[in-house]
Amino acid sequence: MDENFRKLNSYINDLAERGDLTDEKFLALITMPDGETDEILQKKADAVRRERYGTDVYVRGLIEFTNFCKNNCYYCGIRRDNRALQRYRLSKDDILSCAAQGYDLGFRTFVLQGGEDAYYTDERICDIISSIKNAHPDCAVTLSIGEKTRASYQSFYDAGADRYLLRHETADEVHYGRLHPAEMSFSNRMRCLFDLKEIGFQVGAGLMVGSPYQTAENILSDLRFLQKLNPDMIGIGPYLVHKDTPFQEQKNGSLTLTLRLLSILRLMFPYVLLPATTALGTIHPNGREMGLAHGANVLMPNLSPVGVRKLYSLYENKICTGDESAQCRNCLEQKVKSAGYKIVTDRGDVKREP
Ligand code: SAH
Repeated sequence: MDENFRKLNSYINDLAERGDLTDEKFLALITMPDGETDEILQKKADAVRRERYGTDVYVRGLIEFTNFCKNNCYYCGIRRDNRALQRYRLSKDDILSCAAQGYDLGFRTFVLQGGEDAYYTDERICDIISSIKNAHPDCAVTLSIGEKTRASYQSFYDAGADRYLLRHETADEVHYGRLHPAEMSFSNRMRCLFDLKEIGFQVGAGLMVGSPYQTAENILSDLRFLQKLNPDMIGIGPYLVHKDTPFQEQKNGSLTLTLRLLSILRLMFPYVLLPATTALGTIHPNGREMGLAHGANVLMPNLSPVGVRKLYSLYENKICTGDESAQCRNCLEQKVKSAGYKIVTDRGDVKREP
């Protein structure tokens, strides 16, 4: 056996046993050449996932309710300055009917995601949250609507929201500054995440793998930051180019590195809710199934009305934009089954203890 292989193998065993590594060893895993060691890592991650969650896959119905955004993130297709994009908003009734349809399809979590759109005042958001909770008391409501004041977050929580997804995007302040215009601030995003935790939300952070200018050291900082935040959910997917952004000349992130990081995260955080994201399914036709095999245990299919799906274009070639929700649900069921797992009808809360 070759020396390097033996070394990497021992790091993987170490990580599986202790859930942590030295900086140097993490960097070795992040930068190792593609190959056999990935398979070893994948098997360990899958074993840990099965120990905690069995073969269960939790599904979240994603409702992308607005593509208006006041921000101008360089990577994102719904950024303010993208004039090529037709903008839309869903009404409260539209949102409630998406949720009702989702409920019938077995979803017990709804994720309301959107750009930062001032039309949806706190009052409107709270009304939507409490209406969904009243109609479906056995369901969880997750928000993914960006940076707000602590008081706004508190009002969403009081209205009944259970979870909040806010990817930190990068834990390195300099890298953050290369992905976002100066009007956005790293410290505010961090403030938001810690406020959300303190208020009592189940919190999700995360990052794009292979975002422009990202280094292996940046990814290491992300892992260390996640250890500090100790989130309930971690959303990662490959960065994907959108032609109507300042990053139009950049390259897509890597499938292999995304899968490898999913496995590393599963070993670091055995309990975590880890989605195989739409971006992963976009970069490879079987990306989401591969994600499940590498430690992911959550899927977030789209429940938005078919008419608006193409318009929520964070990146190009997004999958499932032409399918009805029921079609998506059935198609996923088959894919998940063939990968050796099972979609369950469940709120799918985090299992912090074994
Ligand atoms: N406005 C909300 C939701 C943003 S969209 C918020 O700020 O949290 C959700 C996630 O999509 C972002 O956090 C980002 O990580 C990801 N995303 C945006 N553009 C992307 C791209 N071009 N490729 C891959 N992921 C992207």
